[in-house]
Amino acid sequence: AKASGRNCHQFFNQKIQLEAERIAQLHFHLKKAISQNELELFYQPIVNPLTGDIVKAEALLRWCHKGQYISPAEFIPIAEQSGLIVEVGEWVKTQAVITAMDLKKRGLHIPIAVNVSTLEFWSLELQTRFLQFFDNVVEKLNIDAFPYEMITLEITESLMMKQQKEVCELLSLLRQRGIKISIDDFGTGYSSLSYLVSFPVDQIKIDKSFIHQLETDPRHKALVEAIVSMSRALDLTVIAEGVETQRQLDFVNQQQIQAVQGYFYYKPMSKQDFFKLM
Ligand code: C2E
Ligand code: CA
Ligand code: CA
Ligand code: CA
Repeated sequence: AKASGRNCHQFFNQKIQLEAERIAQLHFHLKKAISQNELELFYQPIVNPLTGDIVKAEALLRWCHKGQYISPAEFIPIAEQSGLIVEVGEWVKTQAVITAMDLKKRGLHIPIAVNVSTLEFWSLELQTRFLQFFDNVVEKLNIDAFPYEMITLEITESLMMKQQKEVCELLSLLRQRGIKISIDDFGTGYSSLSYLVSFPVDQIKIDKSFIHQLETDPRHKALVEAIVSMSRALDLTVIAEGVETQRQLDFVNQQQIQAVQGYFYYKPMSKQDFFKLM
């Protein structure tokens, strides 16, 4: 028993070491990924289920490294750990603004939703940098003005807990300029509902885990119903994420949810494919 215990321990250590090596390697390569054009933004349309119109699109980051696709669920946490997320976030926002301007030029009001990481607001210094980005990018892209009304920031609940007052002020300022704020993965985080009132929020995205469990567990229906009625009372719009089936869509429609994102309508796609839809 002792011997096998040691083997198990060795195996475990080896696994951790391999994992650590992979993280270190990905970090090293991610640093170069931006300058070497390995990152790409995909776009997933968000649809008004009553008309089928595309009302918004979420920008989702893709990394193709040495011909291999690496999921954002893997490399975003690595970027966060190393602080690289700040550069990554600025790259993402810049690309999103370029796309938003292209849409605007075609007379299409389809705002682009960008995922913002907690770590981009971590310190006062980073908060200042976050705000300055919006002026800097106007110069960098040589555009007349920042298209605030074309950008939505998707923020997860956990962010709301840290430096409440400062982050709140920052987001309020951007919101006054026309940016929309969306709470991502709603219902999965630290769920302090009171911040919905005190925070500058326009929109809630119901996490796809709730949508996927609608059929197997009736309690999830009750949860979604509660989220929807609360959002209505607070004058927030709702997006249902991860809608894949007709039955899920039927439920979403029963709830009069205004916007739907999911494979039922569209998967995330390249910018080129996205523009072919217009
Ligand atoms: P998220 O913000 O919750 O994004 C939604 C995820 O659900 C995306 O995964 C999308 O492809 C996926 N999805 C959309 N519709 C469906 C559906 O019908 N069924 C299923 N099963 N999945 C669906 P993706 O693109 O792999 O991104 C994973 C996560 O990585 C995102 O989750 C977000 O947290 C993070 N992420 C992606 N891009 C960025 C970025 O530019 N910045 C930051 N900070 N995080 C990002
Ligand atoms: Ca999101
Ligand atoms: Ca989400
Ligand atoms: Ca998520």
